[in-house]
Amino acid sequence: MYTVTKVIRFCYGHRLMDYDGKCRYLHGHNGKAEIELAGDKLDKCGMLRDFEEIKRTIQVWIDAELDHSMLLRKDDPLLPMLRKSGERLVVMDQNPTAEAIARLIFEYAVSQGLPVAEVRLWETDLSVASYRRERATAAARPVRRRSTSTAA
Ligand SMILES: [Zn+2]
Repeated sequence: MYTVTKVIRFCYGHRLMDYDGKCRYLHGHNGKAEIELAGDKLDKCGMLRDFEEIKRTIQVWIDAELDHSMLLRKDDPLLPMLRKSGERLVVMDQNPTAEAIARLIFEYAVSQGLPVAEVRLWETDLSVASYRRERATAAARPVRRRSTSTAA
């Protein structure tokens, strides 16, 4: 199995609803996303995927959508005011945690046909969250079913 990882830095703001810590206040992060692709086969150039291709697809999207944007949950009462003042917003169904942002980037990478294995989102130098799908290896193995006889 080969993997390649592209690192993309971006700045974002957010706050967490229904949360008691400091992150309930509007604040920002200098975040870092690591997009890890995986696969067994290399192309004719000996690459899993060209770093440039990852940059063209994921980095361009992050720059356009997430960088210098305020990420808020869809029921955040600040949304109408920020919309009216023309702020760059990303409205999310759930709290815009590092986990949720990692998943957002993961889903976008999948939608672009990239063989993404995991996305890690560094919120600070010391805190990282990741999202990956469970591997399908269990489904490839024959399933042995236990007899569920109810006869007494
Ligand atoms: Zn934060």
